[in-house]
Amino acid sequence: MGIPSLPERVMLDRFCGKQQQVAATLGPKDAPRLAALLKGSDWSLAVRARGEQPRYAVHKVVGAAEGSLPLECCRCMRVFEWPLQLEFAVVVVQGEEEEARWIEQEDTWRADDAVLPLRERFEDELLLALPELPRCNDAACASHAANWKSSDPAPGSHGE
Ligand SMILES: [Zn+2]
Repeated sequence: MGIPSLPERVMLDRFCGKQQQVAATLGPKDAPRLAALLKGSDWSLAVRARGEQPRYAVHKVVGAAEGSLPLECCRCMRVFEWPLQLEFAVVVVQGEEEEARWIEQEDTWRADDAVLPLRERFEDELLLALPELPRCNDAACASHAANWKSSDPAPGSHGE
């Protein structure tokens, strides 16, 4: 058996009702929208998802992802490994009415016809987690940015 990939779809009742869980390795072919934003295809993430049903007719998914992704630094334009450590919990809603009821208090995922497109929703979470302006940790890159900022009248008092 090879490396398991995240199921494309799961039956909501069974996944959450029976508290099923999956652990998988997610790579470029599983997450094409994410892959399109990354620099290179040599990456993978360890991902987990577990269904929960805290009470009748309430479906939740908790998930986690760990690894690093190749991003381009917005300061020095170098490609660097951006460490990702993500945990999330969402209420899965079916239909607009249910979505409207939950969306104020919880993060939600939308499912239709009791089928949850797990892989696609998981990819959504990863896209949300990406930094808008990725910055590498390279010392030269950081000090270069500090020099730019030194023309600022207000001296920064925070470290790093
Ligand atoms: Zn940089």
